[in-house]
Amino acid sequence: SNIVAIVGRPNVGKSTLFNRLVESRKAIVDEVSGVTRDRNYGKSTWNGKDFSVIDTGGYVTNSEDVFEEEIRKQVHLAIEEADVIIFAVDVEGGITDLDQAVASILRRAKKPVFLAVNKVDNHQRIMDSHEFYGLGLGDLYCISAMTGSGTGELLDAVVKNFTKDQEVEVEEGVPKFAVVGRPNVGKSSFINALTGVERNIVTEVAGTTRDAINTRYTKYGHDFYLVDTAGLRKKGKVHEDLEFYSVLRSVRSIEDSDVCMLLIDATRGVESQDVNIFNLMIRNKKGVVILVNKWDLIEKDNASVKKFTEQIHERIAPFVDVPIIFMSALTKQRIFKALEAAIEVYENRQQKLKTSKLNEVLLEAIERYPPPSIKGKYIKIKYVTQLPSPTPSFALFANLPQYIKEPYRRYIENQIRENFNFSGVPLQIFFRKK
Ligand code: GDP
Repeated sequence: SNIVAIVGRPNVGKSTLFNRLVESRKAIVDEVSGVTRDRNYGKSTWNGKDFSVIDTGGYVTNSEDVFEEEIRKQVHLAIEEADVIIFAVDVEGGITDLDQAVASILRRAKKPVFLAVNKVDNHQRIMDSHEFYGLGLGDLYCISAMTGSGTGELLDAVVKNFTKDQEVEVEEGVPKFAVVGRPNVGKSSFINALTGVERNIVTEVAGTTRDAINTRYTKYGHDFYLVDTAGLRKKGKVHEDLEFYSVLRSVRSIEDSDVCMLLIDATRGVESQDVNIFNLMIRNKKGVVILVNKWDLIEKDNASVKKFTEQIHERIAPFVDVPIIFMSALTKQRIFKALEAAIEVYENRQQKLKTSKLNEVLLEAIERYPPPSIKGKYIKIKYVTQLPSPTPSFALFANLPQYIKEPYRRYIENQIRENFNFSGVPLQIFFRKK
């Protein structure tokens, strides 16, 4: 889908604007994923168009201390990766040097840029906002991220500038795998090893539009697409130190895939960027395989696999039902196992369970451990069905669904996982009124 990036100096209200833009979806995402909502990445829809929103500022840990240089990098990265850019400024502070610096980068960008003047919530401020025409970025969108005023007009303009209305054409029923991970974990090496093709490493010209490309492989008796992530192409090291680099780089390929192969560098352990990318996959309800790469470099004893597995589980909890493969792109050890794990996860994710079997198993589990009654009210689940959605979703029909809480949802999820194979697959479970 299209990607909208919010850029701007600290404290102009970027995260308030971000929350406002992803608001409609927020609650749903929380409820079903059981993962804390990402404060920097969210999905939204406006005038029937879906898009992702990224708040680049959300990745700065201490936003008071951001150096101009860091903001410049963020803006450059946003220009490279996003389809549309919202540049947020603050009417209260007027134009600052940093605003000027950002504007001068954006004026040269070959991407649509919308200048959102925030905190415009009275007549005086509408007058004050005119100063921002001086940034040379065309029309102003006067908004109040706090109250939402003006954000509708801003979104109207933003979605009109989307370039990607249709998904890349691929044949139905052929799995799409994305290879993702931090820079230098070995993504290119892995793909080279798998496909036997030395990939053409090119330096991309900043600002050129680029979609995820799907390359089809029929190899080793399997037929699949590898979603070619922009992140696989070397672009120099300038941005790689940024916390959100990998996330921004991964968004598009994750969204375009069925199953993501997340590479982790064995020599570095699980890092926060790995966890960020993992959460992005779960939030998008994609299948996941974790590949611990560079395993050849590890001094191993017979506890190494167990220790590493525990470390991963600790960092990705509560969703730990994920295949983990210890491999080496260099020596090719277990690279096919990695591919087969992805294929298995794809098949798990495609499963449609028979309603009779599902009820047989779950109704018994529910009888054994019924939902706790609340205020003397007896909660009864009568019937379970899998919904016809692209990712496994289950509806449980109950007399009082509103009283069923997260721990019970998790119990049901665990029961499904114990009785059926959903390894690597996020599940959605809904309680509905019978
Ligand atoms: P990318 O940025 O994720 O595409 O990473 P690359 O594929 O460019 O790999 C980064 C570096 O790690 C290169 O020097 C590779 O040769 C090296 N590398 C990748 N995979 C392995 C591996 O399994 N074992 C070892 N020892 N080195 C690896």
